Amino acid sequence: MTDAPLSLQDFTSLLSQFHGEAAPAIDAASDADALEAVRTKYLGRAHGWLKDLSAKLGQLEKTDRAAAGAAFNEVRLRVEATLETRRVALTPARVAGALADPTMPARRQWTGAVHPVTQVIDEMIEIFRELGFTVALGPEAESPWYNFGSLNFPADHPAMDLHDTLYLADDLVLRTHTSPVQTRTLQGYAPPIRVLIPGNVHRRDPFDASHAPTFAQVEGLVVDEGITFADLKATLTHFANRFFGKTKTRFRPSYFPFTEPSAEMDVLCGVCHGSGCGVCKQSGWIEILGSGLVHPAVLESSGVDSEKYTGWAFGMGPARTALARHGIPDIRLLYDSDVRFLGQFAK
Ligand SMILES: [Zn+2]
Repeated sequence: MTDAPLSLQDFTSLLSQFHGEAAPAIDAASDADALEAVRTKYLGRAHGWLKDLSAKLGQLEKTDRAAAGAAFNEVRLRVEATLETRRVALTPARVAGALADPTMPARRQWTGAVHPVTQVIDEMIEIFRELGFTVALGPEAESPWYNFGSLNFPADHPAMDLHDTLYLADDLVLRTHTSPVQTRTLQGYAPPIRVLIPGNVHRRDPFDASHAPTFAQVEGLVVDEGITFADLKATLTHFANRFFGKTKTRFRPSYFPFTEPSAEMDVLCGVCHGSGCGVCKQSGWIEILGSGLVHPAVLESSGVDSEKYTGWAFGMGPARTALARHGIPDIRLLYDSDVRFLGQFAK
């Protein structure tokens, strides 16, 4: 026995009945579990109501099947759209009072890191601390005597010119180097002295790829009986090998008002190992610091007997050192506070 053919009118009436029940049931679902139960009842692939309706398509007269199929698909799409709308509305972030969607992927946790220039300063302090140095600090606003006079600058030295130095008042400058702390240390403490002096200094320099008007400096001072250039060379070579890994150093004669003799120290370029590259300007060497034996006039201006005591000093720019160490082409990158750039050097 075969069933009597289903009329198109009966079929569309079944579709309306289906839609008339399914849509309000979906809208009434109050959470994800309820919605899933409704979905299974009406749209489930195994036993859902829609599945039964699709089976009834076969009972239609062949001439009615195209129209019935189109009506069926239209209702199916409308109910599926209603379901999707409700599903989005029920996601936890959309529910009033919900704080967050626990199914969202976790966000990356940002943590702070030490700036590459501060890393250089911290490592220097650590290396020199092992050699018996202590840290000394001093004011950034100084009298011209501390900044220049006590350090054997002649009265007409060009560094004292308004072009190079920032004057806060006639008798007050922003220190152009950390060397005034040498004077303050010599005035305040009797030898033997071994100090490391980190701090910011200020100059009327342009802000370009290799200059900044405010920058950090680290200075060292040793004063004792019997100190010679050999002490300077041995200590700074030891420092270079500790800081850069085993490397070669060379000392070139130089001139500073506060040291005599004076020398600049270079280390072998860590990028090309001496063959010449852009970082070392094809020389194979990177200049790291200036140094020299403390000029007797500097000792005397602070009341230290230069017949009894000798000493050596050095000064270094940790920003330049950070550039050389990481092959950074422009010093301004160290001032931009762009965490995408700085994060590369986090330890
Ligand atoms: Zn090089």
